[in-house]
Amino acid sequence: MVSPIPDFFQQRYGYAPLLVRAPGRVNLIGEHTDYNGGFVLPFAIDRRTLVALGARDDGMLRVASTFSDEVIELPLAELAAAQASGALRGWAAYPLGVAWALGVFGADLAAVPGADILIDSNVPVGAGLSSSAAIESAVAMALTDIWQLGFSRETLARVGQRAENDAVGAPTGIMDQSASLLGQADSAVFLDCRSLESQVVQLGFDAAGLAVLVMDTGVTHEHSTGGYGERRASCEAGAAALGVESLREIGIDELDRAGRILDDVTYRRVRHVVTENQRVLDTVALLETDGPTAIGALLDASHRSLRDDFEVSVPELDLAVETALENGAIGARMTGGGFGGAAIALVPIDGVSRLQVAVDGAFAEHGFGVPETFTVRPSEGAKREP
Ligand code: ADP
Ligand code: MG
Repeated sequence: MVSPIPDFFQQRYGYAPLLVRAPGRVNLIGEHTDYNGGFVLPFAIDRRTLVALGARDDGMLRVASTFSDEVIELPLAELAAAQASGALRGWAAYPLGVAWALGVFGADLAAVPGADILIDSNVPVGAGLSSSAAIESAVAMALTDIWQLGFSRETLARVGQRAENDAVGAPTGIMDQSASLLGQADSAVFLDCRSLESQVVQLGFDAAGLAVLVMDTGVTHEHSTGGYGERRASCEAGAAALGVESLREIGIDELDRAGRILDDVTYRRVRHVVTENQRVLDTVALLETDGPTAIGALLDASHRSLRDDFEVSVPELDLAVETALENGAIGARMTGGGFGGAAIALVPIDGVSRLQVAVDGAFAEHGFGVPETFTVRPSEGAKREP
């Protein structure tokens, strides 16, 4: 990978950095299940955040990004107070929040050296591809390296989530960081968000001649302020009314009972989560027995459930999915938290350009903004660059 970042770092700070890269992710299926203790099946993609990092002996954290002109400095000694008072804001809350969260997980922030951190990313922001987890995972792995913490990838995923929840203030689950840290080529990460056990599942897209086309609607979302928190609250209310700790405890066969107890909206939120968990299990089973060409109907059902029951789709996402299904995709769904962002289509490789043209045309016809479409490959997770 060619990146100007190592040279840039060398020029700016006068020494050669440690380099760590961590990918964004696409969630194949299992949406809004992670914070309900359920199942998800994301894969790491071939778009990444690269972090160049070096130790400083003055106890200062200094973060910069090719994404912004600001350079933010904060002494390690002030990190905890800054987190507690909500002073970590904007994009710097991600890397600084990770440094803080490493402390929560046992790093002695009074004993470790400071750091210069330079971030460069080609994961599109707010497209549902988790540019946030890419930053968190890369920074967590890089700081773990120079601070010699020896944390496992599973722990780093929890560090990233903690940073996002308690420093950035977005109540997200652990899926994105797990995909970014645990992903493998041509594979997905099947994650049980209750036990945090994970299993790498072969996708076989290459052998089947399938590509994943991301259709980024360009409609942006804001997790910390949007409907995401509201959906999460509905799920918690549903679980409480049903007398369970999380919706993971509810099976398809208990939906009738749920329908009698819950109000209509809460019931539909619950029904999405419960059926989506089953769809993830079915997808994993079908991949094994019948291969990836068999999972299209499950992707389609996931989209309908997110649109009608969970109500987190938007007209642009629905149009992208419909257009994909009318133009050769074997399955398609919105991916990510919703309220904008991207949809994905599983499509034969030789049908990709035709589908891209069709999506462009459909968006123009509806007077929607110009979508961005590109393929992603299931790829390896975070790693130190040589
Ligand atoms: P996504 O779906 O892309 O994860 P989020 O809203 O969760 O969307 O995270 C996007 C935020 O992450 C941005 O608003 C910014 O604060 C931060 N971010 C993403 N990429 C970069 C980058 N290259 N440099 C600095 N901050 C970034
Ligand atoms: Mg995010």
